[in-house]
Amino acid sequence: MMKGIPASPGIAIGKAFLFDTRQLTAVERDIKQETIPSEIARFEEALIKTRSEILAIQKKISREMGSQHAEIFNAHLLVLEDRMLIEEVIESLKKDRKCVEYIFSKVIGKYIKVFSKMNDEYLKERTSDIEDVGKRILKNLIGVQEKTLSDLKEQVIVVAYDLSPSDTANMHKKNVRGFVTDIGGRTSHTAIMAKSLEIPAVVGLEKATTRIKSDDFLIVDGTDGVVIINPDKIVVKKYELKQQKFVRFEKTLLDFKDKPAVTIDGRKVEVSANIELPDEVSSVIAHGAEGIGLYRTEFLYMNRNDSPGEDEQFEAYKKVAARLSKASVIIRTLDLGGDKFLSQLKVPHEMNPFLGWRAIRYCLAKPEVFKVQLRAILRASVSGNIKIMFPMISGLGELRQAIGVLEEAKEELRHKKINFNEDIEVGAMIEIPSAALTCDLLAKEVDFFSIGSNDLIQYSLAVDRANEKIAYLYKPTHPAVLRLIKSIIDAGHKENIWVGMCGEMAAEPGFVLILLGLGLDEFSMSPVVVPEVKYVISNVSFEDARKVAEEALKLSTGEEVETFTNKRLDELIPWLKKTKKK
Ligand code: PEP
Ligand code: MG
Repeated sequence: MMKGIPASPGIAIGKAFLFDTRQLTAVERDIKQETIPSEIARFEEALIKTRSEILAIQKKISREMGSQHAEIFNAHLLVLEDRMLIEEVIESLKKDRKCVEYIFSKVIGKYIKVFSKMNDEYLKERTSDIEDVGKRILKNLIGVQEKTLSDLKEQVIVVAYDLSPSDTANMHKKNVRGFVTDIGGRTSHTAIMAKSLEIPAVVGLEKATTRIKSDDFLIVDGTDGVVIINPDKIVVKKYELKQQKFVRFEKTLLDFKDKPAVTIDGRKVEVSANIELPDEVSSVIAHGAEGIGLYRTEFLYMNRNDSPGEDEQFEAYKKVAARLSKASVIIRTLDLGGDKFLSQLKVPHEMNPFLGWRAIRYCLAKPEVFKVQLRAILRASVSGNIKIMFPMISGLGELRQAIGVLEEAKEELRHKKINFNEDIEVGAMIEIPSAALTCDLLAKEVDFFSIGSNDLIQYSLAVDRANEKIAYLYKPTHPAVLRLIKSIIDAGHKENIWVGMCGEMAAEPGFVLILLGLGLDEFSMSPVVVPEVKYVISNVSFEDARKVAEEALKLSTGEEVETFTNKRLDELIPWLKKTKKK
C-alpha cells in the first residue's frame, strides 16, 4: 500500500499504464574507436527521422490551421540543420569516445544554457526551439515512443512522475479511470483538472513510477489518498463496496443540487463552479451551480501551437455565457506561469516560476496579447452575465494598470461601434499577501473580490502548492491564513462589495463552515463538489457558523483549528460523516 495526497475523490480499480514524461536521459557509455562510424551513422539517421517528423507535423498544422501557424516549425528545421551543432557532436564523439546520445545531450545542453542567457530577446526565445528539437533527436537516438494520453486504447489507471495541466487536459474520462503521480500537491493544477474531469487521483506518492509497472492491477482511493498494488480478492471486494458507497453518496447529494444555498436562519450565499474548458458547462449545470465563479481561460491556449485569436475566444466565451443565461460567469484573464505553461507563448525558464513572470505580470508586459482577450470578453459580455477578474494582483498600482488596459480595449470597441456591456463588473483576485493587506485600497476600485486561496496559502506560508515534500505545511487553517481571509472579507464589506473564494479551500465542508461564519458571499469550486457544499450550507445556521469562525480565530495552530472545525461539523451535520466514511 502507498500513501499519497488525495487529489480527486472516488475509487478507481484497474490496470496500470506507466506514462513517463520525464526528461529523456542519455546514459554515459564508452565506445570503441571502430564503433565511431556506426555512431555517426546513428546520429545521421536520427537527424533524418527528426526532420521527417517535423515536416509531417508542419504539414498537418498547415492543413488544419493554416500555413502561418506552421511557420514556427521553420525555426525547428533550422536548428536541425545547424552545421556548428552537428560538427561539434561529431568532433566530441571522436575525441571523447562516448555513445552519441550522451555526447549529443551534453552539446545540446550547452547550447540551451548559452541561448537562455543571451541578452538579445529574440535569440533568448530560440531556447525553447532548441530544447524541443533536442528532445526529439534524443528520443530518436534512444528509441523511445512518443505517447500522449489522448489516444489510449483501453481503460487504464495512468501512473506518471508528473502530469502537466496540458497532459491532463488531453485525457479522456472514457479511457482514464484514475491517475497517480510521484510529485504534486492537492492544489497543483494537475489535481484541479482531475477533479474537474471527475477522475479519482492520488498525487505526491514519491515512488509510484518505481514501484508500479505497466499492467499491474491497482486500486486508487482518491478520497483517502491510498494506492494498493496487486491487491488480493478480499481487498478488491472491500474497495468495490467503498466505490459503490461513494457513488451512492454522490447521488444522494445530487438531490440538493437545485436547492438554493440558504442557511437554516436565512442567510443566502452563492455557490458557483470553476471551469477550465467550455465543455465543462454541462457539468456545472448538472451539479446545480448557480454560476461560474472562475473560468480559467489559460486552458483555451493549451495543447496547440498557436494562440486563440479574438474571434475564437469571443465564440468560446459567448457560448459559455449564453448557456448559463442570466447566471454570472466570471472570466479570469490569462493566468499562465507557475505550474501552467503554454508552448506557444514563449516564457523563459525561471528559478521560481510561482514568483516570476506570470499571470497579470505577463499580460501587462504583452498588451497586444492581453487586449485580444479583453476585447473578446467585452464583445461576449452582451450575450450573458459576464464579469472580468484579474489574477495575481499585488497592489493598487498593478490593478490600475490592468483596468487601464481594459479601458483602452473598451475604447477600441466603441471606436469600431461594437457593442459590449458598459457596466461590466470588474474584480480582483486576492491571492498575494500584499493584496490581502491592502484590500481596503483595492476595494474602492473594483466591484468584487475573489480570494484565490490556492495561491494565497502558498504565498502566505511560503509553501509551494505543487511540492509534495512540504504538503504537510500547506494548511488552509493556519491562523495567518484565517486572519488574512477575515481581513479581506471585512475590507470588501466595508466598501459594500461582495467577496467570494474560488480556491480549493471553498470546497472542504469543515472550511466552508468557517468561511460562511466569516461572512463569505460566494463559494466557487469544481462542479462535482457543488451539491456537497450546498448541503453543508443549507444544514447549518449562520449563527452557528459565525461562532465556529469566532472560536477558530482564537486557536493557535492550523491543527487545532482543523480538529475543532471537523468536530463541530460532525456535531452540526452528523449525516455527512456517517455517509461519507466507511
Ligand atoms: C487560486 O489561486 O486559488 C486560484 C483559484 O487560481 P489558480 O488555482 O488557477 O491559481
Ligand atoms: Mg491562483
